[in-house]
Amino acid sequence: MSSISEFYEKDRGEDYYNRLIEEIGGLNGKLNAFNAIGSISEGFPFSVKDNICVKGIETTASSKMLGSYVPPFNATVVERMLKKGFGFLGKTNMDEFGFGSFGLNCAKPARNPFNEKYVAGGSSSGAAVATSILKYHVAIAESTGGSISTPAAFCGVVGFTPTYGTISRYGLIDYANSLDKIGIMARSGDDAREVFDVVRGSDGNDATCTDPDYHDRNTGNIFVIDELTNGASEEVMREFSRLLDSLAGKGYRIERKSLKILEKAVASYYVIATAEASTNLAKYTGFKYGLKNDKFYQKYNDFFSDARENFGIEAKRRIAIGTFVRGASVKDRYYVKALKVRRLIINELAGILKDGFILNPVMPIKTPSIEEAESLDPLTSYKADMFTIPPNLCGFPHVSFTYAYPDGMPIGAQLTAGHFDDYALLGFLKEWESGFKYRFRYDIGAL
Ligand code: GLN
Repeated sequence: MSSISEFYEKDRGEDYYNRLIEEIGGLNGKLNAFNAIGSISEGFPFSVKDNICVKGIETTASSKMLGSYVPPFNATVVERMLKKGFGFLGKTNMDEFGFGSFGLNCAKPARNPFNEKYVAGGSSSGAAVATSILKYHVAIAESTGGSISTPAAFCGVVGFTPTYGTISRYGLIDYANSLDKIGIMARSGDDAREVFDVVRGSDGNDATCTDPDYHDRNTGNIFVIDELTNGASEEVMREFSRLLDSLAGKGYRIERKSLKILEKAVASYYVIATAEASTNLAKYTGFKYGLKNDKFYQKYNDFFSDARENFGIEAKRRIAIGTFVRGASVKDRYYVKALKVRRLIINELAGILKDGFILNPVMPIKTPSIEEAESLDPLTSYKADMFTIPPNLCGFPHVSFTYAYPDGMPIGAQLTAGHFDDYALLGFLKEWESGFKYRFRYDIGAL
């Protein structure tokens, strides 16, 4: 049974929600999961990543640039959740505009609920923390290159990133439009499925959003690709091998393959992602969009430079890279080439996914401490996304799930399926969860 059905078996009075808000508020001082907490009084609680618009609630994508922007409308996902009776709980913390893998690129980084000295993962850091601390709750999150899988793995929850274009992006503050996918974090595959059924489906406000024929293919084959394990730490590989043994024991056929082109995935992704991000951020000039700049009496360029000081360091870095790679004189060498690489990777991976799932560790490293992650240079940090990027670059659905707790911290694997095989992944999770019990340190809202 999903925890959503379980929740509705009892009447929850006003007291329940008051206590919930109070307890979250208490813990939030330590974990920074929420940027804003709502005034929920009914329904199964859901949180919304802070780059998705909720009417009347401050929505900042964790950026100073958006100041105290309060959207006058709901994103389609939010509208659908509310209509179905879910209760809006709050906006969750994230890396500024989605730029990051560890949740550190924001004013008050979220912390890992298993150990506060460790990162929560990013960019949907707060969504993962909220899911990990709340007994009854689902998170609406978003991934461009791994922002659901990574924090879900670090915080020990289920992260479901559906096929590109299955959930409307209307009301999402875009990072990179051809890559962005709204997805779900939950404490079980069943909860994720229930929410997916509520929020997916075409939307007149998002022309890329479709109603496909979903298939549910589970061939019993799992492919492990060398390029999606190469470079992982010994410890990660030791745990991952155990997972493979256990899946083989359940009857899965595990087959190794190599796909050299995947070595180009990170480069292709960061060119496309930054190119799109730099165009999306161009509108924040302090004029019509972005924190208003009242200092009109200065030179034209100075006015804009002044306004754009409100971007954090990582956003500025991405504007610089993205503007460069799509420049007229070099775009064939970078941007267009990256698109070609993406096409090749899609074709190759689609060929493999026709015959089975692809499984890999979510990250090449175990959850780093905040101190360790802070010391990574930008390139090393980008490269840490090498296992989560391929399905994101290609719009393939994927789930990340916990499979072990070495030294008490969760460790996750990512399973990818072909386009529109979303339900096959959710079916796999159900099977996995029948033999593995996730652990949580907090259970706020349990009765
Ligand atoms: N870490 C990747 C990036 O910074 C992915 C983030 C995301 O999916 N939003 O681009």
